[in-house]
Amino acid sequence: MNVLLLGSGGREHALAWKIRKSRHLNNLYIAPGNAGTATLGTNVAIDVTDFGAMRQFSLDNDIDMIVVGPEVPLVEGVYDYFHEDEDICHIAVIGPSREGAQLEGSKDFAKRFMTTYNIPTARFKTVTLENVTEGNAFLDSLPSPYVLKADGLAAGKGVLILNDLNEAKQSLWEMLNGKFGAASKSVVIEEFLSGIECSVFVLTDGRSYKILPVAKDYKRIGEGDTGLNTGGMGAVSPVSFADDLFMEKVRRRIVEPTIEGLQKEKIDYKGFIFLGLINVEGEPKVIEYNVRMGDPETEVVVPLIKSDLLELFTAVATETLDEKVLEIDDRYAVTVMMVSGGYPGSYENGKIIEGLNDVEDSIVFHAGTKNVGDKIVTSGGRVLSVTSYGKTMDEALGASYKNIAKIHFENGYFRKDIGFDLSI
Ligand code: ATP
Repeated sequence: MNVLLLGSGGREHALAWKIRKSRHLNNLYIAPGNAGTATLGTNVAIDVTDFGAMRQFSLDNDIDMIVVGPEVPLVEGVYDYFHEDEDICHIAVIGPSREGAQLEGSKDFAKRFMTTYNIPTARFKTVTLENVTEGNAFLDSLPSPYVLKADGLAAGKGVLILNDLNEAKQSLWEMLNGKFGAASKSVVIEEFLSGIECSVFVLTDGRSYKILPVAKDYKRIGEGDTGLNTGGMGAVSPVSFADDLFMEKVRRRIVEPTIEGLQKEKIDYKGFIFLGLINVEGEPKVIEYNVRMGDPETEVVVPLIKSDLLELFTAVATETLDEKVLEIDDRYAVTVMMVSGGYPGSYENGKIIEGLNDVEDSIVFHAGTKNVGDKIVTSGGRVLSVTSYGKTMDEALGASYKNIAKIHFENGYFRKDIGFDLSI
């Protein structure tokens, strides 16, 4: 098979690493990719939302399957674009239709979907400038803290959690007046849920599904989960508190109603569903849906999949996933992210990365890297992540920390406490 993978982060390097191992792979192309993906296939300079260029490239290179990493092309309708054009509809797109991608693209859509299908989530109200009074009244009815979410995509920055009621009302007003552009013209106000979060990934062909290993990511820049939010500073899998009882609740109360809801709504969905869950005293509730794999969770979840990924994807495309067995590695996997100094604020690119060849028994997944001459240099906030396996989480963490210490670039930073809250 010839595969075109869309994206350029650590998630895409991990997917490329796994796709490369498939016995069905012929050629792998990554658009636009990074220095890591360039070692596994051919990077092509196509923007992930340039569907026209993707179409031409796919025809020229006899592409059989497009695997979509990030959410933006899905929300913009890449699935539908290929599906509705008779010259390219033979190409399988792994990802939901534009309508399915609304589960991530509109928080209001996701909340209404959950309400219709009785899926446990925080109480909410969606407001616009027209009914801001009702929004303020809803805030009055809630205890502090207050959760305000821009309805549309805001690159992970559209959620505010505020302790003070007046501040919450002020922020609601600012959001409705364009604080996050068009994304916050409509705002979802939510009840605050208290608990520990985890990420559950589901692969579905729209009829049946497979639940992948559960992961926990570490979002804050500082140790002890302090400081600003980032794209993710590390991840571990599996997660001790997501035991059989918890996962059975997830399956019955969340995964199955989600798939049934998609069917009832006649939404075409052939790809990953990412459930951002919170464990509230043993009860799983949905914080958010995403319609693609998470980053850095992919860097631990994908290495734990033993089955051939292209076989699973083909089963997704042909709606035969129920005939497949998902084989999972019984070890732990962890990943530790190394970021540019200053991230998630401003930072400099172009720092030479050294020590990559000294890494042993761990996998380095590149995120913000690129080749310049014979050097690999930084080109993003999150630069790379070091993934390791272990019979215990401690063993895996030990390997990642031993190896990340061998990698160097000016002002590089990583958290030294990934997984520590779970490894005792
Ligand atoms: P990201 O892209 O970073 O995943 P997002 O912009 O899609 O974020 P959410 O995942 O809905 O937004 O919220 C971001 C974070 O805010 C969550 O991971 C969670 O920590 C916190 N959060 C969101 N909703 C709630 C809630 N109802 N109660 C408590 N915390 C919440």
